[in-house]
Amino acid sequence: MFLSVHGTIGLIIGKYCQNPILAFFLGLISHYGCDIIPHGDTKAPKKYNNLIYWGLAGIVDLSILSVTLLGLFILNKIDIYNPNIAATFLGSILPDFLLLGYFLSNKRLFKIPFKLHNFLHNLISKKYEINFYLGLALQFILFILLLTILI
Ligand SMILES: [Zn+2]
Repeated sequence: MFLSVHGTIGLIIGKYCQNPILAFFLGLISHYGCDIIPHGDTKAPKKYNNLIYWGLAGIVDLSILSVTLLGLFILNKIDIYNPNIAATFLGSILPDFLLLGYFLSNKRLFKIPFKLHNFLHNLISKKYEINFYLGLALQFILFILLLTILI
C-alpha cells in the first residue's frame, strides 16, 4: 500500500491517541493491518516489476507524503511536534523502511520484518488479489478520503 496512505492513517490515529508508545504501536499495527487488504501490488505488470520502478514509485510516494505533511502543518491541521502524532506517523511508515533496509543492506538484520511484511501482505492477496490499476485507483481515492478527515 502507498506510504502516503499509511502515513495519513498514522496521522489520524495520532490525533486521537494520548500515549506516544501506544501511538507508535498502533501506527505499526495499522500499517501491517492495511497491507493485509488486497491492493493490487502483487499484480503489477512485469514491465514494472523491477527495483528501478519500485524505487521511483517509492520516491514519488514519499514526495506526496512529504508535501501532504508539510501542507497539513502549514494549514495548522496537524501538530507534527505532538509526540503522539509523531509516534503514530513513524510507526505507520516504519515497516516499509525496514523493507528498504532488507533490500539495500544487511538481509540478515532485516530478515524478520521482511518475512512478517511479506507474510501479512500475501495473506489474502495470494488468493484474492485485485487488478493493479484498480488497486492504484482505490488507494488514491482512500488517500483523498483520509485527507478530508484531517482537513
Ligand atoms: Zn508495507
